[in-house]
Amino acid sequence: MSHNTERSPYSVVPLTGGQLAVPSYTFLPTDKEELFQNVLTQVAEQFSRAFKINELKTEVTNRLAMLEKRVELEGMKVAEIEKCHSHILSDLLFKLTPQRDVPSYPKYHLSQETVEALRHPTFDVWQWEPNEMLSCLEHMYNDLDLVKGFNMNPITLKSWLLCIHDNYQVNPFHNFRHCFCVTQMMYSMICLCSLQEIFTQVDILILMTAAVCHDLQHPGYNNTYQINARTELAVRYNDISPLENHHCAVAFQIFSQPDCNIFSTFDAEAFKQIRQGIITLILATDMARHGEILDSFKHKVDRFDFSDEEHVTCLKMVLIKCCDISNEVRPMEVAEPWVDCLLEEYFMQSDREKAESLPVAPFMDREKVTKPTAQIGFIKFVLIPMFETVMKLFPQIDEVMIQPLRESRDRYEELKQIDDAMNEVRYIYVCV
Ligand SMILES: [Zn+2]
Repeated sequence: MSHNTERSPYSVVPLTGGQLAVPSYTFLPTDKEELFQNVLTQVAEQFSRAFKINELKTEVTNRLAMLEKRVELEGMKVAEIEKCHSHILSDLLFKLTPQRDVPSYPKYHLSQETVEALRHPTFDVWQWEPNEMLSCLEHMYNDLDLVKGFNMNPITLKSWLLCIHDNYQVNPFHNFRHCFCVTQMMYSMICLCSLQEIFTQVDILILMTAAVCHDLQHPGYNNTYQINARTELAVRYNDISPLENHHCAVAFQIFSQPDCNIFSTFDAEAFKQIRQGIITLILATDMARHGEILDSFKHKVDRFDFSDEEHVTCLKMVLIKCCDISNEVRPMEVAEPWVDCLLEEYFMQSDREKAESLPVAPFMDREKVTKPTAQIGFIKFVLIPMFETVMKLFPQIDEVMIQPLRESRDRYEELKQIDDAMNEVRYIYVCV
């Protein structure tokens, strides 16, 4: 065979009528070169098309698999969200039944030092176990003479407190320790402002009990989320303070059980008055009503009349509001961890809002908020004006409660200046 050169290249020629069962080819330098070139091109094109079809098939299969996975994940997400939405009303209701027949937490002997510390806003709320906090709450009810004074069954008080504890969720912020903080601050204010001298004992009972119950079964997602996500709670309460209405309803579901009913010794009329008082106070903790409630109080404060029921109710509403958001009144080392807890809960909400394509409030967005920015505005425009208005009636809170607020505001302003300076340095660094 001659060599395959450029001048005389090999050509492919099919051997027709040959004895071979499959087409065979031989390489000949012939005149039919062009024809065979065409055949070859066609074959090559067909092969290429066949490969492309295979590629396409693989791609389609892959895409289908991805889509299936996505549908599955979306389904799981939807199921998870649905579960969370119905969580509060179905999963949690079982807790309303007391789970222990006899209150089982050990009776802590509170030292004289603890008993004294409990009366002040400086009390360190972080060093106590739930059982110890329960004992402290029990102590407050006894110390204020609510147990003996109203002939309350001490065992019922214990069972009730246990049931309260079981009906606070393990949220970063809205948990049983927050309930304890708010109630302990209320107790401090009762002591500091000698409220027992100006309020009736029924009012004191309402203030304390509303504080204990004010965030029962809080799901960790605020009213805005409830409304935007159209949760079962928002639907049930027609978007009107869904959470506060729920906290209140849970409180009275608990009281409806005989072994948790600390009001069993009251007659129907007295119970009605206590129930109305507690409802009013818990509903007042909705921050959406802050401006309305504070304005109403400001109108009364300069000519405040302790014998006027409307005035007293308004003052009680402001008092529970003060206690609810009073963390910054506490010493810095007690107050600061609460900011982290609150931001954690906010971020949990904003992450979920982003995942569910719901509106996100900038103050909850982890991309936009920092500890100082979160606190400065809140202390300056919400806390200080409210406490300064209360100070008109109770000047003694200036030193004990408002001074720490001013110090906290100054500290966070300094921290913000440091943050700003750091950001400027970072910006210059990036530009350079
Ligand atoms: Zn609260």
